[in-house]
Amino acid sequence: MEQLVDAAECRRLTPVEAADLRRGVKALRDCLAAAGAQLRRAAGKAERERDEHARQLLTAGQPALDVACRRCEAGAGAWCRPVAGAVMPRTLHVARLVDAGVLS
Ligand SMILES: [Zn+2]
Repeated sequence: MEQLVDAAECRRLTPVEAADLRRGVKALRDCLAAAGAQLRRAAGKAERERDEHARQLLTAGQPALDVACRRCEAGAGAWCRPVAGAVMPRTLHVARLVDAGVLS
């Protein structure tokens, strides 16, 4: 393909050469599109794994998750949610920890 580009700098390509060059450019374009799709799939997979890992870290060693929260009404297994405002609590509510016997 590079030879054809070099030739195109010096003279007019024959129809056969032009068709070869067109095929080469199309093959390159397809290759780039496939690489882009592959990259997007890999990035999506990595993000899902990161989120799952973060969820596991958040819920590991949290026996209070087994009971529902009477403060925010989060069900068993679900993380506590904001009672006021929109910021997710970084820890489970104290009432829940007490109910689960984690705190006394
Ligand atoms: Zn709660």
